[in-house]
Amino acid sequence: MQKITVAKGDGIGPEIMDATLEIILAAGAKIEIEEIEVGEKVYLAGNTAGIAKESWDVIRRNKIFLKAPITTPQGGGYKSLNVTTRKFLGLYSNVRPCSSLHPYISTKHPKMDIVIIRENEEDLYAGIEHQQTDEVVQCLKLISRPGCEKIVRYAFEYAKQYGRKKVTCFTKDNIMKQTDGLFHKVFDEIGLEYPEIEKEHWIIDIGAAKMADTPEIFDVIVMPNLYGDILSDVAAQITGSVGLAGSANIGEECSMFEAIHGSAPRIAGQNKANPSGLLQGAIMMLNHIGQTDIAEKVQNAWLKTIEDGIHTYDVFKEGISKEKLGTKEFAKAVIKNLGAKPTTLKAASYAKGTALNLPKYVRKAPQNKELVGVDVFVHWAGTDANILAASIKQIELQNLQLKMITNRGIKVWPDGFKETFCTDHWRCRFQSTENNSINKENIITILSKAIEKNIDTIKTENLYTFEGKLSFSLGQGQ
Ligand code: NAD
Repeated sequence: MQKITVAKGDGIGPEIMDATLEIILAAGAKIEIEEIEVGEKVYLAGNTAGIAKESWDVIRRNKIFLKAPITTPQGGGYKSLNVTTRKFLGLYSNVRPCSSLHPYISTKHPKMDIVIIRENEEDLYAGIEHQQTDEVVQCLKLISRPGCEKIVRYAFEYAKQYGRKKVTCFTKDNIMKQTDGLFHKVFDEIGLEYPEIEKEHWIIDIGAAKMADTPEIFDVIVMPNLYGDILSDVAAQITGSVGLAGSANIGEECSMFEAIHGSAPRIAGQNKANPSGLLQGAIMMLNHIGQTDIAEKVQNAWLKTIEDGIHTYDVFKEGISKEKLGTKEFAKAVIKNLGAKPTTLKAASYAKGTALNLPKYVRKAPQNKELVGVDVFVHWAGTDANILAASIKQIELQNLQLKMITNRGIKVWPDGFKETFCTDHWRCRFQSTENNSINKENIITILSKAIEKNIDTIKTENLYTFEGKLSFSLGQGQ
């Protein structure tokens, strides 16, 4: 018996949650339910997070959280509960299956059956942004090895449990060699542990174009946060059935399962809402906790119901659908089909009986790291890099000399092009000769000399080698 936390949410939430629970319990789910209140009422009672402290305790204790959609009141500084839950509970993996239900739900992609697995915690979403000069702002893109290992392993384990054949990785590592490069490298490393699964990597731009055009060539796709945020919506939309999709947010300790749609307040309380999205979330939950036989039984009964043309109003189509049912009646129809399998749609078949194998990240031994230079960023309103170089050369040291100046990453000194457009944000790279180690006092000396010369330094970035390998990008054109 697995204890789970349930929140019935707002709008259509209570109706679709009741229907979902009725179906999975009828199928034999071995769960014990502990209910908490989250959402609108909690927000309006003055709690800007939409969740009380005691409810956090319940979620953390039970670890598995099935959540109906909630209404975030407009204005008033209310924080999205989804974002808060993801961040506080370290839910690093967002999983969104996107499968066509052709010919029952119309789509341009009848054979599409993909799962987007999106890294959920890092990348450009760390929210570390600064204005540095009059003209330039920055956002730090942070990618960590534990972040990559956890998400990539999750993708392969997911593929194994769901009997999927291929995992594809999307990155832009031809440009971002360090950050996306690490994601790709970890994908290659961990992929070796799964010889039975086909692996491939696509550069995100062409990969995304292919996914939108011929999604049937993909199976499971794993990617960093920003790309995943965008492409999971594209993928859900092109199945033609956003309202039928569920999603899982998985962490090392806790997980949250839900529908991808919102609380649809306009149809609340009318026994009209389609419970399928939340039911899909619940099926992922059952798989996650190892009750794969029940998950399979529910999924097949649901597919059979859709295939029989038994539909709620939102997906009802004259000529294809046979019966238009309300939320409760739809749930009853699915329950009646428990034990049956679809005949046209592909029946679900999940690996039997085990939860996913997701070992905790173990930190590796530290690498041999040497400081070999520094990038000093300078705010300067001039346009001729040769003038800036002459001034910067006055602050270089014998063992730490100015090697290059870039503007927005493009080398403008030495040998820059006069055509290159320059902003007021310049990176001056000081590197030791032959990449010998330098020390941090050298950097402090350069910065103090800059103060004396009235050079406006805005930040520094240390240049390191790890295990003797240069571990920073070169300037474009360097
Ligand atoms: P929505 O997803 O609630 O509704 C969009 C459209 O889809 C509406 O026409 C609605 O009637 C229809 N729809 C959605 N789910 C349906 C279902 N199960 N059956 C039949 N029709 C369905 O999006 P919205 O209107 O932009 O947002 C409403 C509220 O939901 C907002 O307060 C928003 O903040 C919240 N929201 C919550 C979540 C969540 O909790 N995960 C996600 C998205 C939006």
